[in-house]
Amino acid sequence: MFNTKKNIINIISNDDIESKETSKSIQKALQCKGYKISNSYDKNSILNICIGGDGAFLRAVHKLNFPTSPFIGINTGHLGFFQEICPNNLDEFINCLTKKDCYIDEFHLVKATVYTNNSQFELTGVNEIVVKEVQSKTIHLHIAIENTYLERFSGDGVIVSTPLGSTAYNFSSGGSLVYPTLSVLQLTPIAPINSKVYRSLTSSVIIPNNMTIKLTPEYRDVNSILIIIDGVQHTYENIVKIELNIPEKKIKMLTLGNRNFWSDIKEKFL
Ligand code: NAP
Repeated sequence: MFNTKKNIINIISNDDIESKETSKSIQKALQCKGYKISNSYDKNSILNICIGGDGAFLRAVHKLNFPTSPFIGINTGHLGFFQEICPNNLDEFINCLTKKDCYIDEFHLVKATVYTNNSQFELTGVNEIVVKEVQSKTIHLHIAIENTYLERFSGDGVIVSTPLGSTAYNFSSGGSLVYPTLSVLQLTPIAPINSKVYRSLTSSVIIPNNMTIKLTPEYRDVNSILIIIDGVQHTYENIVKIELNIPEKKIKMLTLGNRNFWSDIKEKFL
């Protein structure tokens, strides 16, 4: 469990009225139990409470630059796949927290190293990294896994998803649900073209943690690549190559005693 000598908790909320009210209630309840609350980020915190939906959680992880302290989410009216607590069971959460009836899970992320003709950039995603054509035209990408050439992909783009992100854009694009603590990446095509002219894999492939996915755009696409990290767009000029793998850094989530991935799938999707 986390270091109980420190008792600082960061609260990060979106701007919805319900989220702001929930933020005030939980702040008051935690202060009564002796916790110190920071509304700006305190790096000595034991926990980051994120109030909103999955979008708010993703923004918080990026804004706080992937902190080492765990997250827990309070869902205020969204899908809330990451968010474990409801505003009406705050007391139950505080009880579990004070009794330490909770545990910390670690989740793998996805990293892209983008090589341009004169520089290189690193980007990290929680859900996924998507590579598309900037004006929604067909993109042509040469795809290799490690040093083995796999295919010349043609279509709308590809998603490289983490297990955590497998329930998001990946799932809507026909990718598989992956148990969230596994250490793999999933490469999922978006609208792959299969005709006499173009042959692209139509299903996802799962890549183990010691292998790198290498995407090389064709010459006509080098200045028109859109890279989308957890919903945020990035563009670079003269992209030569994009390499994707699992970085060492992870994110941690605090889980209350009774949470289960498969019941979350049933509850949120079926
Ligand atoms: P957004 O509006 O913030 O999110 C779109 C939907 O995806 C929301 O309902 C969100 O839940 C849900 N979501 C986010 N992460 C999830 C996860 N790990 N598992 C299950 N559902 C999840 O959209 P955005 O700002 O463009 O991008 C944020 C994320 O949305 C991206 O990382 C991407 O995975 C996903 N997205 C999905 C599609 C699609 O399914 N066609 C298209 C674009 C983006 P909340 O309602 O709780 O926020």
